Amino acid sequence: MPSRTDILARLRENDPARLEEFRKHADDVRRRNVGDDVHLRGLLEISNHCRRSCRYCGLRADNTDLTRYRMTKEEILAGAARAVQFGYGTVVLQSGEDPHITADGMAEVIRAIRSDERTSSLAITLSLGERSEDELAQWRDAGADRYLLRFETSNRRLYRKIHPPRSAEATDRMELLAVLRRLGYEVGTGVMVGIPGQTFDDLADDIETFARLQPDMIGLGPYLPHPETPLGREATTPGEEQPANDELTTRKMLALTRLACPKANIPSTTALATLNPADAYQTGLQWGANVIMPNVTPPNYRALYEIYPHKSDSQESAEEFHDTWIRRITATGRTIGIGRGDSPSYIRRTLMSTEVVQ
Ligand code: SF4
Repeated sequence: MPSRTDILARLRENDPARLEEFRKHADDVRRRNVGDDVHLRGLLEISNHCRRSCRYCGLRADNTDLTRYRMTKEEILAGAARAVQFGYGTVVLQSGEDPHITADGMAEVIRAIRSDERTSSLAITLSLGERSEDELAQWRDAGADRYLLRFETSNRRLYRKIHPPRSAEATDRMELLAVLRRLGYEVGTGVMVGIPGQTFDDLADDIETFARLQPDMIGLGPYLPHPETPLGREATTPGEEQPANDELTTRKMLALTRLACPKANIPSTTALATLNPADAYQTGLQWGANVIMPNVTPPNYRALYEIYPHKSDSQESAEEFHDTWIRRITATGRTIGIGRGDSPSYIRRTLMSTEVVQ
């Protein structure tokens, strides 16, 4: 784990030779800890309804220009089956914080995926926003394996500014992450890079928070505001203290995250790829990432899941994406992960708890 001084120096580094040395170090730590496999997770965007009004996000409840959709149980099952057809070991069910996704309804969907012989072997990851402990417990009992909930920034004041609470009663994502771990989920979190008002010190805090939490999965993306949102209308200029929301700063964060959490599953995210559609999934893999999440959402819905515009995966069909990326991944000497691709830290934790029980 790099020292605080090292983290800050890396974040501010601009010398090409030293950056390449830094990248190689992170790539080597990745290889030694999670190997050369790239795990593919089929991403299914099941609803773009959201009751929140995060100030940068195109799905915010106040965006009345967006056509909303919610997939049926049958459509979700068909999407999970498509993930299996492509050879993916995981389906990620993602949505805005949609109150019409009920505890019982979602549990039924999870049980249906579990009991269908085509999809029963899939790991099921949920990314459905802040939900109550009872709901999370019910979904875990129904067969969900993993949950993704980003804390977005460890700067609490900045977090509240961009992510206003739903009611006077602010929820604490850190507490929810602890609940998820207690319930036995494989837990994922993450942050955005380059939020207006964020500082290099905040990014260093994020890395130190990852090191303390040791999440099983960590997603990092540049801050990409939707233009039709309050923050999207504000101009930001990177400066002495304000990190840029660009590809290089995100790559540096990826590498630092790999050094802080060597055994975590870390995706090369769509948000990063959106900055450089031709190359960014690949560069993410070279800077410490070991996961890609191909989008298997039906095209008629995919264009409507517009958290930010021009998402790199909004145009390509699932088939095009799959073929392109299998070729590119294998061309760089990496291998395609087979099976569920559980994180090594989760497997170790599960084994240790089994030993304690025995
Ligand atoms: S960031 Fe998530 S919770 Fe916030 S408005 Fe967008 S979809 Fe909803």
